[in-house]
Amino acid sequence: MAHETLTCLDCGQLNKIPSERLKAGPKCGTCGAKLMPAKAVQIDLKTLEKAAKRDTVPLVVDFWAPWCGPCRMMAPEFTKAAGDLSGRARLVKLNTQDHQAAGAKYGIRGIPTMIQFRKGREVRRQSGAMQASAIVGWAQA
Ligand code: ZN
Repeated sequence: MAHETLTCLDCGQLNKIPSERLKAGPKCGTCGAKLMPAKAVQIDLKTLEKAAKRDTVPLVVDFWAPWCGPCRMMAPEFTKAAGDLSGRARLVKLNTQDHQAAGAKYGIRGIPTMIQFRKGREVRRQSGAMQASAIVGWAQA
C-alpha cells in the first residue's frame, strides 16, 4: 500500500498515512490538527524547512509580507486555490517579515514568490501575484 509522509503544520510531527486517506480529512497523530487543511496555513521557517524536506505530497509556499500590496491582493486567491487543491497539495504561507532568514535560505528576490516542493526538492517557482485558477494550474503542471 502506498503511503505519504506529511509534516504536521501545527506541531511539526511527521505523519505517515495511506495515500488513499489524503482526501478523508487525515489528522496529526500527535496533536490532532488537520493534515490536509482546505485553507492556506501560516507556518514558520522551522516547519517549512522540515516539510520541504520530508513531505511526499506537493507543498506550495507563498512567500509574502504584510507591507506588500500585490501579496495582499493575492491572499484571497491563494486561499481559494488551497480549497480547490485540498487532498492533492498543501498550500502554506510564510511571512518573510517575521522570518527574515527565509529570504536568503530560499533565494527569494521579490514577493510574492511561490515555490513548490516535492520529496525534498524544489519543483518550480513563480514570482508575481496570480489568480486562483492560475495557481491551481501551476501547482498541478
Ligand atoms: Zn500535529
